[in-house]
Amino acid sequence: MIDFHTHSSASDGALNPKELLERAAREGVTRFALTDHDTINGYLTAKDRVPEGLRLVSGVELSCQWARMGIHVVGLGFDPDAQCLRQHLQLLDAARLDRAARIGDRLESAGMTGALRGAQSVASGAQIGRPHFARWMVMAGHVDSEEAAFKRFLGRGKPGDISVLWPSLEATIAAIKQAGGLSVLAHPLEYKMTATKLRALTVAFAEAGGDAMELINGRPRPGDIAALWRLIEDRQLAVSVGSDFHRDTPYGAGLGVDPSDIPAGRGVWEHL
Ligand code: AMP
Ligand code: MN
Ligand code: MN
Ligand code: MN
Repeated sequence: MIDFHTHSSASDGALNPKELLERAAREGVTRFALTDHDTINGYLTAKDRVPEGLRLVSGVELSCQWARMGIHVVGLGFDPDAQCLRQHLQLLDAARLDRAARIGDRLESAGMTGALRGAQSVASGAQIGRPHFARWMVMAGHVDSEEAAFKRFLGRGKPGDISVLWPSLEATIAAIKQAGGLSVLAHPLEYKMTATKLRALTVAFAEAGGDAMELINGRPRPGDIAALWRLIEDRQLAVSVGSDFHRDTPYGAGLGVDPSDIPAGRGVWEHL
């Protein structure tokens, strides 16, 4: 079993890196990457205490933009000490802090006093994101659920949806490549693009030096795999797979993906 897309409490996941790795090993995952949003802090704390039976590769899920849309690129197998990558992560730290302050202002205007400080205390040192605001909003009684927080305040087109100047797709792929890693276009169907737009994104990703596409992210819906294979074949990309695990939920996937249906020679893991 392989899992190349997971989150810990260093970003918006529930388990700390040690707990997450131990659970993955217990559940039969043999190749694993912790891919927190815009931070490798969790990976750095976990990398020297890897449970037996599990091979850890370096990972991160980088926020970037293409055609004014927010896109996620997973980096795998990079040198975590590479200067170019560290600088890139510093840019993202600053972008997320700036965005958090602006989300806080918007929520204050909507009557939610202390939103920024609340979200910061939920994050407690993690890379801050909208899920920390959502959890605080539930705790403070402003909404009944995190889902409702996204629906009413944080999701697309809502007051807390701040457009961010994330680094470009090209700069993101270049930073991963310069650090010796491979780039994976994460959850292509999550962007809700038209088929034409998604094909254009795939071309831009491949031309910028992108290596692989996520064929499986969490629980695929019927038809997802066939649609993604067409894009993968078009550009002869490698394939990556992951659960995108954040926490146990009734609808989300557990850790680990069985890669046995993926033809030999196509898995990104064969290059890591
Ligand atoms: P951010 O990276 O700060 O923009 O936050 C995006 C994260 O929020 C995603 O990685 C998900 O973990 C989470 N998320 C996105 N949409 C929703 C939603 N509708 N309900 C709950 N969590 C969500
Ligand atoms: Mn997330
Ligand atoms: Mn993502
Ligand atoms: Mn993710």
